[in-house]
Amino acid sequence: MLKFFVTSKDKKARAGYFETDHGTVETPAFMPVGTQGTVKAVNQKYLEEIKTQIVLSNTYHLYLRPGTEVLEKAGGLHRFMNWQKSILTDSGGFQVFSLSDLRKVKPEGVEFKSHLDGSTHFFSPEKVVGIQRSIGSDIMLVLDECTPYPCEYEYVLNSAKLTSSWAAMSKEAFEKSLPLYGHKQFMFGIIQGSIYGDLRELSTADLIKLDFDGYAIGGLAVGEPVEIMYDTVDFTTSMMPEDKPRYLMGVGRPENLLEAIKRGVDMFDCVMPTRNGRNAYLFTSNGVLSMRNAKYKDDFSAIDDNCNCYTCTNFSKAYLRHLFIAGEILALELASIHNLNFYLSLMRTSREKIIEGNFSEWKSEIVKSISLKNKINPEE
Ligand SMILES: [Zn+2]
Repeated sequence: MLKFFVTSKDKKARAGYFETDHGTVETPAFMPVGTQGTVKAVNQKYLEEIKTQIVLSNTYHLYLRPGTEVLEKAGGLHRFMNWQKSILTDSGGFQVFSLSDLRKVKPEGVEFKSHLDGSTHFFSPEKVVGIQRSIGSDIMLVLDECTPYPCEYEYVLNSAKLTSSWAAMSKEAFEKSLPLYGHKQFMFGIIQGSIYGDLRELSTADLIKLDFDGYAIGGLAVGEPVEIMYDTVDFTTSMMPEDKPRYLMGVGRPENLLEAIKRGVDMFDCVMPTRNGRNAYLFTSNGVLSMRNAKYKDDFSAIDDNCNCYTCTNFSKAYLRHLFIAGEILALELASIHNLNFYLSLMRTSREKIIEGNFSEWKSEIVKSISLKNKINPEE
């Protein structure tokens, strides 16, 4: 069993840590997304420099490319990508349901066509455990069906039941199989149920019975209004075990993370810092900056005076703007490093404030400066 310790609480917000064979992960934690065994545009040296403790990678993508044979020959993903800290892999459920247009859901798994070459594949809960054994992630997730938003009650009910049954099959396959590379692997269940309270309750209860190492909240940040997301998170965490990590999948903007921490979430992942960074949107303590804006043409100040990352320590807004306008690939790296450091620092400060017991007060203040001054929607 994964050892998780909640060391401080400030109302529902928690500070703690867990340990894998690849090191300590302090919570609240943000996991940079390395879909294909790389965090886009950021090399491993900089991930270490900004004190990344865990990255997320993706079962669906790694299974299709480079494939489990190569990963096993390499000695697992840690050795393949030369990353000696922790790795969590999602199960591929989300990608099967979002990337693949042709799929058939059956009680024993899901058939889908590769988004790369159209070839047909079948993911069963057992097979997905096997792929994650080949990857060697420290934390694996169970195959689930992620419902879209909005979604009919009846569909969500049947889907949540299917996810519970897949979770039981996954747990059994996990217990019957062994890690391949000499380090321990752990497994998280995924709570579904869309925005329906009684279905979240049903899904949570089913998964707790299976006694996973941690629990993810899936099926949110798929287009529902943010208040509904917060209410669903609040309601779901109130039913989740105190002594297991809680991971909110795919969320979100900096202020969304802070609101979820307030509601008792410990772990996050999101493509936003890297994707928005590559699109020239930089998160700062004074809101989001669009680096293509002409007003930065001769602004030689740092991106964020409150940031100590490689980008902010060495380069100006004017230089970064020039790189984006000129289409230079260094722009993508510098922007991604800064945005990831912004997210990771936000998690570290949240942790400190929870320990000091003034998280809520700090959060109300910081949310004003990081979001309200921002007149730009980073996704546009
Ligand atoms: Zn910076």
